[in-house]
Amino acid sequence: MTKQSARPSRKSPHVWGDIKILPGQSAEVSLAVTESYSSLTIPIPIVVQRGSEEGPVGFITAALHGDEINGTGIIRSLIRDQQLNLLRGTLILVPVLNILGFERHSRYLPDRRDLNRCFPGSMRGSLAHRMAKIIFEEIVARCDFGIDLHTAAVRRTNFPNVRAEMTNPKVAQLAESFGCEVILDSKGPPGSLRREATARGCPVIILEAGEIWKVEPAVVDFGVKGILSLLSGQGMIEQATPPPAYRLILDHTQWIRASKGGFLRFHVSPGDLVRKGAPLATYTTLTGKETGVINAPHHAMVLGMTTLPCITPGDPICHLGMIPDRFEEVQQLRAEAADDNLHDRLIKDLSTNVRVVEPSESRP
Ligand SMILES: [Zn+2]
Repeated sequence: MTKQSARPSRKSPHVWGDIKILPGQSAEVSLAVTESYSSLTIPIPIVVQRGSEEGPVGFITAALHGDEINGTGIIRSLIRDQQLNLLRGTLILVPVLNILGFERHSRYLPDRRDLNRCFPGSMRGSLAHRMAKIIFEEIVARCDFGIDLHTAAVRRTNFPNVRAEMTNPKVAQLAESFGCEVILDSKGPPGSLRREATARGCPVIILEAGEIWKVEPAVVDFGVKGILSLLSGQGMIEQATPPPAYRLILDHTQWIRASKGGFLRFHVSPGDLVRKGAPLATYTTLTGKETGVINAPHHAMVLGMTTLPCITPGDPICHLGMIPDRFEEVQQLRAEAADDNLHDRLIKDLSTNVRVVEPSESRP
């Protein structure tokens, strides 16, 4: 069985129904993605910005998981707060892709499917597959590259990281120009927008940052900064973009899971660097009696964490990005970059969701 690898036929990024966007102009258009129980058409709003010169066409999408609205905040800021002044090329900005999930504050569609496992979609398939097909044909097929914005799943938070298939040179170039300190080298799951679009010639990266149901100010600032840096790398805007203080490309990550039930005391927070053997959290009973300690299996960075201290066996506690060789170097570079306000602010802000305490001296 051969997988279709050709891109869908390409539509003009400057013509949306009756609306034509001329050089130097921008317009709000809408895309009908499905119909409601009451037989109404359901559109999603899209802003198309066109530079005065021809150039690459890119999409920036958010809330593909309908509850992940940090990216919606990032795109709203790009539209309203930034004077993008596109020199060349075209941007297709989509604040909410999964409008049906978004309306329910839910990751999923009403048919309980994950839209981000249904690409490239099919008009003969489920609701999710049909929406995916329309998004693929109407947005992805118009573009040369894309950025898809996500957060951690419910009850977790992510230290900002870009996920990208670094063996693909076009994807790697996008990921590096975003200027994020941490890149996870991965393809993405089958059926995900980034994997399927990349496989068909539209390289896509994702940003994973923060929590669901929030528009976190530091995450928005981080996302906007990264996108402006990437657009500058594409020659679409003029923007001075200093490189990140350090760069970690991780290809080995691991979720540390609970081996018993209880109430955790956390000793680390998102973004922390932890040495092999360092305590990550202590299990306690509801009355506070300590019953064990969870330690880091390797030198690592804390990429993601649960924000809920109540756990049962198997629950994910900590997502670690392993740094077997460069731990000291990254620690040093990070210490030298201590005046990077945004990086510092991210660590502080994300940690407000996790009460971090020192391990008890009397722990077993
Ligand atoms: Zn997501």
